[in-house]
Amino acid sequence: MDVMTKEKDKDLKKTAEKETALKMTKKEVALNAVNALKKEYPEAICSLNAYSPFELLIATRLSAQCTDARVNIVTPVLFGKYKTIEDYAAADVRDISDIIHSCGFFRQKSKDIVGIAQMILSDFGGKVPDNIEDLTKLPGVGRKTANLICGDVYGKPAVVADTHLIRISNRLGLVDTKDPYKVEMALKELLPPEESNDFCHRAVLHGRAVCDSRKPKCEKCVMESFCAYNS
Ligand code: SF4
Repeated sequence: MDVMTKEKDKDLKKTAEKETALKMTKKEVALNAVNALKKEYPEAICSLNAYSPFELLIATRLSAQCTDARVNIVTPVLFGKYKTIEDYAAADVRDISDIIHSCGFFRQKSKDIVGIAQMILSDFGGKVPDNIEDLTKLPGVGRKTANLICGDVYGKPAVVADTHLIRISNRLGLVDTKDPYKVEMALKELLPPEESNDFCHRAVLHGRAVCDSRKPKCEKCVMESFCAYNS
């Protein structure tokens, strides 16, 4: 077979795959995406370093408007100085500010960190809550952080609607909205509950490595055959 014929065959195969993909339900696309990313990224790990539920909560709060890499540079100093929830509850906000300065929004974040510790002690018996309703009562804790804690700490079905997941879900045709709450709700319907948390971690890895916001590398993507982006 000559090169031209081979290329033509490849194009025909791609077109046939796309036609099949267009007939898929969103649930089928979601399941395909779960399986494809599971193979590609067997380890679905959170890229924030933390050694207790409380530290993960703090690291996640710090990661708002900041890269995980930057947070991972700052947290060893913070976690090295403050060990227990009681330590954080009694901390001087200015000292926390100095340590986390490079994470941005340091005034609000440091106030939240001390406030979170105080509220966990006063309202939740010193234990990081295990449900979204209680977690979102903590200062500065939104649904994204709450879902991460529910999923990673308590092993509950969770959808962490971060920027990578929102972008990829839209491109795959699973959702048609940038609203994190709507994406979370839609994906909770589409993803197998036991897979949803890991899928979100894998979507972050895939967003960084392949599905770039400006220039997605679709030709290298394991979801190209059923992704709606180039249809
Ligand atoms: S095919 Fe392209 S747009 Fe679709 S998920 Fe892959 S990289 Fe992103």
